[in-house]
Amino acid sequence: MKKHNFSAGPCILPPEVLTGAAQAVHDFEGMGLSLIEISHRDKKFVAVMDEAMSLSLELMGLGEDYAALFLQGGASLQFAMIPYNLMSATNGHAAYLETGVWATNARKEAEAFGKVTVVASSKDSNFNHIPKDFTIPSGVDYFHCTSNNTIFGTQMHAFPKTDARMVCDMSSDIFSRSQDFASFDLIYAGAQKNMGPAGVTFVAVKKDILGKNGRKIPTMLDYTTHIKGESMFNTPPVFSVYTTLLNLRWLKNNGGISWVEARNEAKATLLYNEIDRNPLFRGSAMPEDRSRMNACFLLNDESAHQSVFDSLWKEAGVVGINGHRSVGGYRASMYNALPLESVQVLVDCMKELERRS
Ligand SMILES: *Cc1c(COP(=O)(O)O)cnc(C)c1O
Repeated sequence: MKKHNFSAGPCILPPEVLTGAAQAVHDFEGMGLSLIEISHRDKKFVAVMDEAMSLSLELMGLGEDYAALFLQGGASLQFAMIPYNLMSATNGHAAYLETGVWATNARKEAEAFGKVTVVASSKDSNFNHIPKDFTIPSGVDYFHCTSNNTIFGTQMHAFPKTDARMVCDMSSDIFSRSQDFASFDLIYAGAQKNMGPAGVTFVAVKKDILGKNGRKIPTMLDYTTHIKGESMFNTPPVFSVYTTLLNLRWLKNNGGISWVEARNEAKATLLYNEIDRNPLFRGSAMPEDRSRMNACFLLNDESAHQSVFDSLWKEAGVVGINGHRSVGGYRASMYNALPLESVQVLVDCMKELERRS
């Protein structure tokens, strides 16, 4: 039986994407060779990379002033590449909004490069909300935020208006909702949350912000290296890039971001309505900051209900809803590929628990 996969990452992918990826591993476009045993310089793979770069920009409505890159090292390496490329060598100063563990990790990396101002933090309330009243100091090299806090189930539903360059970690909600992507100067995402398999990291960067900070940057960590090399300065993770492309095509063929946004909204509404209605459960994030991707919720009385609830959802084929150890309870991740029916199955388990108690 196919499971209802609510895993926080690596994520569920559409069945047709898995089928296409499996096919390409056996025989890539009728070449009689596997995708993973050909040269990445083969024109068939170069075409894959070109399409992955152009389609990602197209889906976000970004123009030629941006470069799309497919890199390695995860979102975690971006935590260092960003200050390396954007923070001035002399009197470098960046502003960070601290909304979760990933945002904190990003901020800590930046501190190795210059002065960092934390404009606001929700750490004292275990990151259960997004701070909204803060000022970005003038003259900073950039402002960094995390659009969706995967572990805590919060999401930024508005972004500050600022003259500072905007840098955003969109690892767990990229391509999930319509946004003014052009208001950001650099967007990055580890692919394995909402784009594709692990092993590749997506970056969209406004080209004119690069090459200006006066630092000597190691070749592999310099965005301009990868722009010039068209994401093939060194051997790219071909399988991850190809599977990501299949997923981007799936998104485009179904109607793009506006289509998936409506679907994501329907899923999140269905689950949060049940969390709020069902007297046995409560949500852990502040309602106005709830994430449409990762819904975190708790049982009000764990000792009375946890074992029954756990066996109910396991029997129903639900997987991946255990909460992160720092929050406890449950976390249902509803990435793009998760069908509404899977959310209905989980909601039915919650209703069944209420009926039995
Ligand atoms: C998972 C995650 C990361 C870390 O991604 P890696 O690719 O594993 O380095 C960073 N930021 C956010 C928001 C995440 O969800």
